[in-house]
Amino acid sequence: MPRRKILANSDIAELLAIESESAKMPAKKALRSASRRAFMWPEEAADLLRQGRSLTELQSVGPYIGNLIRRWLEDPPAIPPRPAIRKQFLTITEAEAALSRKPDWLPSVRGDLQMHTTWSDGDASIADMAEAAVARRYEYIAITDHTKGLKIAGGINEEQLRQQAREIDEVNDGFRHKGLTVLRSAELNINPSGQEDMEADALAELDLVLGCFHSSLRTKEDQTPRYLAALRNPHIHILGHPRGRVYNYRLGLSADWPRVFDEAANLDKAVEIDGYPDRQDLNVDLLKIAKRSGCRISLGTDSHGKEQLRFMEYSAAAALIAGIPRDRILNFLSREELLNWATGVRENKLRAA
Ligand SMILES: [Zn+2]
Repeated sequence: MPRRKILANSDIAELLAIESESAKMPAKKALRSASRRAFMWPEEAADLLRQGRSLTELQSVGPYIGNLIRRWLEDPPAIPPRPAIRKQFLTITEAEAALSRKPDWLPSVRGDLQMHTTWSDGDASIADMAEAAVARRYEYIAITDHTKGLKIAGGINEEQLRQQAREIDEVNDGFRHKGLTVLRSAELNINPSGQEDMEADALAELDLVLGCFHSSLRTKEDQTPRYLAALRNPHIHILGHPRGRVYNYRLGLSADWPRVFDEAANLDKAVEIDGYPDRQDLNVDLLKIAKRSGCRISLGTDSHGKEQLRFMEYSAAAALIAGIPRDRILNFLSREELLNWATGVRENKLRAA
């Protein structure tokens, strides 16, 4: 008898997404949300069932969805190939399995380079995020609140960015003895021409700048020029969530990726692995292309609260699976090395100008 396939959480996520397509509200919404959540379930649903536990222990799983999953686990249906909008997302159990094969990888991460606070759309203060970072034994974190062009996310202006600097100084005074430095940064909103929405003086005061696109993310045309323009923007060190994809919602942009990553390598800039579970952007296939270009890679959780710092597992696992060498990963640098790199990137640009 052929051995029966055991469904992984990623398979269940796909089945839930397919089921949602023909379901009516409110089941449709519940199925979609369970499909997203499946990537964060801390255990395999199949293990729960085997242990005689209730599937409703899993987040976003009530009795109705629990029954569906149990039926699928007992009699696994065929799963059609995933559509691109749901391809290459790791579940946390897959990420942990990959990390466990190289136990010194995740502990080598010395900091997190993307997170939000109550200054924009996060729900924790800078001090709260710093405390959570100390618990993870980090040496540094970058506070990357949104900038003023992104009103919907509570983007802050130059004046607020300077007020925030004073708060960061105070937090740093309190945390120095715990070995943590809070870095000044921002998730700089850039338009499709690669231009920033903040004044140069304010950006020059930051330790490093993450630049991100938030508009025209559904266009199907090749977007290579916008990436090249963003990388050449002298204010930007890291290109954040480069594709702009969101699980089962938005495919993200396309470009001539070898050219984009080659340009990042030429300028010694970084592209990000945003670890937010339904972003996971860049994904493993693109990271393999980035690896060939040799550009720098930044790991950022895009946390909007303390608990989300654990999304570093997704970023670190993607880098590991793609085979990114240690010396290309910004987060493996010491604080000193990281700041030297950031200064160097700015000086290179001045020289080129
Ligand atoms: Zn963003």
